[in-house]
Amino acid sequence: MSSHCLFSIEGVSFAYTGPLVLDDINLVLPPGKFYGIVGPNGCGKTTFLDLLTGCKKPHSGTIRFQDNPLSSYDKRELARQLALVPQEFDTGFGFTVEEIVLMGRHPHIDRFSSPAEKDWQAVDHAMAAIGIEELRDRYTNTLSGGQKQRVVVARALAQDTPVLFFDEATSSLDIKYTLQIFNLARNLVYNEGRTVIAVIHNLNLAAAYCDFLIFMKDGRLQQYGPTPETMTAENISEAFDVQAQVTIDPYNQAHHVSFQYFK
Ligand code: ADP
Repeated sequence: MSSHCLFSIEGVSFAYTGPLVLDDINLVLPPGKFYGIVGPNGCGKTTFLDLLTGCKKPHSGTIRFQDNPLSSYDKRELARQLALVPQEFDTGFGFTVEEIVLMGRHPHIDRFSSPAEKDWQAVDHAMAAIGIEELRDRYTNTLSGGQKQRVVVARALAQDTPVLFFDEATSSLDIKYTLQIFNLARNLVYNEGRTVIAVIHNLNLAAAYCDFLIFMKDGRLQQYGPTPETMTAENISEAFDVQAQVTIDPYNQAHHVSFQYFK
């Protein structure tokens, strides 16, 4: 097995109680790239992230992380390697923003110990990167959906892991904050060699930011490859059953998807 492999996914299937929701997924993901997972609602994207983060176990097949079975890592060790920004996060009552972001440091803090200077630095750094310092002492149940989402991204940044998963992490954000988070993720990949694996509904953001795309449909891997080769009208039509056209956006030089409206 190559040490250039971050995740190696072999014959992975998963079901909740009924039919398979992930069916024979095979994929090798090298580190240091920005991966986008795209596909229609209910095709298994979140379930797939849950398997990659070790939250759920495959019913068959194996997932290897850095050449070892994912199942061989204990929870704390995995939390030092993998951070997830989930689609929905219940920040609960009675926690301040600072406390939630500090939770990202838990895998780094010894049991029964207090946060060290480096933990507070990571919290400060994450809050500054997201621009939420002024929310520091606010209770999270008083925040808007978008503000909460930014707090949860800051928590993942504070976790300071080589791999970050985003599950539609910008769905409640306006365009400025959406671009801020995508730019931040991109910088983590290109400047620091981290890996980002993101479920993205907005195909133009996926086209602009991702190195590789994973198209999923009905629990199966439909396409996998470099973004320019996979973000095609055919693949979009096959995955989503809509008519699209893919061109090069002259403003960004990125692939751009236009949809056929009014039909
Ligand atoms: P996506 O993220 O692509 O929208 P999901 O991974 O959330 O898809 O869901 C894949 C399939 O699994 C869907 O049919 C969904 O209804 C089903 N599913 C998701 N979570 C559960 C669950 N806890 N119990 C039973 N079925 C589930």
